Amino acid sequence: MFKHAAKPCIASYCVICRDVQPFFLTRIGRPETGVAVIGACESCGLRSIVSPEEFLEISPTRPESVRELMEKTSPRLPLAIADRVFFEKRLAVGEIDPPERIQALREPFQVLSGMATRDRWLAGAIIASTFFGVVVMLGTLLAWDPQGKVHILRYGSMGPLIKGGLLAIPALAMFLTIGVYKTLKWRGRIRNKLIPLLARSLRPLRPTLDELDRTYVWLLTASNPVATATTPDQVHEAVCREPDRSLVNADDMDILGLAREMHERLTAQAEEHSRI
Ligand SMILES: [Zn+2]
Repeated sequence: MFKHAAKPCIASYCVICRDVQPFFLTRIGRPETGVAVIGACESCGLRSIVSPEEFLEISPTRPESVRELMEKTSPRLPLAIADRVFFEKRLAVGEIDPPERIQALREPFQVLSGMATRDRWLAGAIIASTFFGVVVMLGTLLAWDPQGKVHILRYGSMGPLIKGGLLAIPALAMFLTIGVYKTLKWRGRIRNKLIPLLARSLRPLRPTLDELDRTYVWLLTASNPVATATTPDQVHEAVCREPDRSLVNADDMDILGLAREMHERLTAQAEEHSRI
């Protein structure tokens, strides 16, 4: 559908931005193994699976205004997200019940867990390749014979074994250092990526440190990878620095007003239809 489009995009609701945003689409996978379409939020970068058939059309480029994009790709969006936008309005003024608030605090962690899992795989691959490197290096060094030839896994006498063992110590240290360095770098990278997204999404809730502590206890019990890569203090500090950017586009377009108009029009149409 969007094979020849320069920048295929649609308008949808982003739970991290808590707003209507343009999503840029890319296709992943191969026809033999299955193809999925991924949408990346223009504002926060959140990537999620998109079903193109749910949209009226895919815009080949990003129009100037979000409203134009929404009318072109998803004209019924106001009706579809009216409840959610209304919930965001209640949330902003603190008019939500404690169970709803607990759920709202957990939501961004659940949405972002896929992102942390993907990167955790990367760290696992780094550690596995380091381990493999150590095994190969040890095997090679231990098989070093006095004539200076390398025979992999050939142990003639104790001499080359000791020599190989001594040579293997710095190699082992080097591989372990690379492994630890890469893992720490991964942790830093994942933190830098996740914390701004968590802060942005949690900002309208203005959670206390105590609430975040309790949310983390639940998340750690549920083995949520976002909770292992970040701490409540880091998130709380970032939330306090973050300006509230939720519902900017939604309010600009008056999503609730549009939803009301659509609802009234559809009700009138249904009444007219029942009279025929
Ligand atoms: Zn977003």
